[in-house]
Amino acid sequence: SPKVAIIGRPNVGKSTLFNIITETRKAVVKNQAGVTRDIMIEPVDIWGKQFDLIDTGGITEAGDIFSKLIKEQVTEFLHSVDLIVAVMDGRVGLVPEDRDIIRVAKQTGKPFLLVINKVDSDQDQDMAKADFYEFGVDVVAASFEQRRGLAEILEWVVKQIPENPGTVKEGMNIAIVGKPNVGKSSICNAILGYNRMIVSDIAGTTIDSVDSPFVYNDKKYTLVDTAGLRRSAKREEDLEIISAFKSQEAIRRADIVLLMVDGTVGPTDQDARIMQAILEDHKGVIVVANKSDLGGKEVPEYRKTFREQVERVFHFFTDVHIVFTSAKTGYGLEDLFEMIEKVAHQMTFRVPTAELNDFFFETIRKAPAPVWGTTNVKFYYLTQTYQQPPAFIAFANHPDGVTNSYRRFLIKHIKTNWDLHGMPIRIFCMKSR
Ligand code: GDP
Repeated sequence: SPKVAIIGRPNVGKSTLFNIITETRKAVVKNQAGVTRDIMIEPVDIWGKQFDLIDTGGITEAGDIFSKLIKEQVTEFLHSVDLIVAVMDGRVGLVPEDRDIIRVAKQTGKPFLLVINKVDSDQDQDMAKADFYEFGVDVVAASFEQRRGLAEILEWVVKQIPENPGTVKEGMNIAIVGKPNVGKSSICNAILGYNRMIVSDIAGTTIDSVDSPFVYNDKKYTLVDTAGLRRSAKREEDLEIISAFKSQEAIRRADIVLLMVDGTVGPTDQDARIMQAILEDHKGVIVVANKSDLGGKEVPEYRKTFREQVERVFHFFTDVHIVFTSAKTGYGLEDLFEMIEKVAHQMTFRVPTAELNDFFFETIRKAPAPVWGTTNVKFYYLTQTYQQPPAFIAFANHPDGVTNSYRRFLIKHIKTNWDLHGMPIRIFCMKSR
């Protein structure tokens, strides 16, 4: 993945920034100037973009930046990275070493952001920046201690990194989870049997393969961890603890999870825990109510009862997608495939920032966020992250003041506006000015 280097003189706050972004305490923050440290590298995922963050404390602080040898080393190192974030001290102001660092960074031709740290009040921002405008580079004023300016720094970094680095993933991974005996194996066999194009039927694919690819509407999907499900003598796996553990693993590997329940029984508290796990892992999800053939003649009544049960047991996610199936008769299979296709589509939904903000400002104009204490919560803009399912970041003056109910209100409107019902949409709030 791309490499993002944090450079700067000693004590400007490089390690603090590194620690905040990586959420580790790896880089030791020290107060003694000139103590050489090793380079710290940590892979991170910010809003769906992956990169390696590098704290260069060890080299850029190694004594005299003016010395020819050090400068050569630093220059060479900077040529090996993709983005450069230079941190300077706003309290101290611009010093000669900073000019040197800026010059070296600019000469690489890499995207370069100048961060002025320790700017602790809004009033100081423009003053602090003024010193650095002469260099004609992107500048952000920040206070790492007060968590100011981080939104701008992260946004800058994330914007520079191209989408889908490396290989484009082929098709969605689908996991089938649920309690024993609800019909997971049966539906797995039905899906794969229904589908003439399954790759595991093609010569050369091993029968015992863990994952089973299939094709629907010319699109490729993969059922993950099907080896256990497809085995007929699998009764020993009916122990709930084993199946719960296996579910965790399957959920982790999936993009879309089919949470299967016995439609005639309805979801239980254990299903609610599985659903929580799915949501914590941020996956697309479909509740599959199987054994519909046993649901009795009154189909609409049966469905209505099931929906009510879903709203009660999954009270934290009431608009979840539901499909009624019978693995025994094949009923509902077509609906299930269509729903999988719809969820795959919803997962990859992207809206341009301009369109998103037209909608956003219209929504908050009609129903502004409630006042927080004595302050008005002011939103600056909304942006979509690169995550699946869709997630958004709202930049506000007081993110703490955005209540959960207002967040739910925004999510509801987003879902309605772009037909994202049934998706576990998230909105993060970040401080901006
Ligand atoms: P698993 O433990 O979740 O994998 O469940 P299985 O697929 O092994 O199914 C458990 C039992 O329910 C078996 O006896 C299946 O034949 C039966 N079964 C599965 N799906 C259906 C269905 O849609 N209707 C009916 N009537 N029985 C089903």
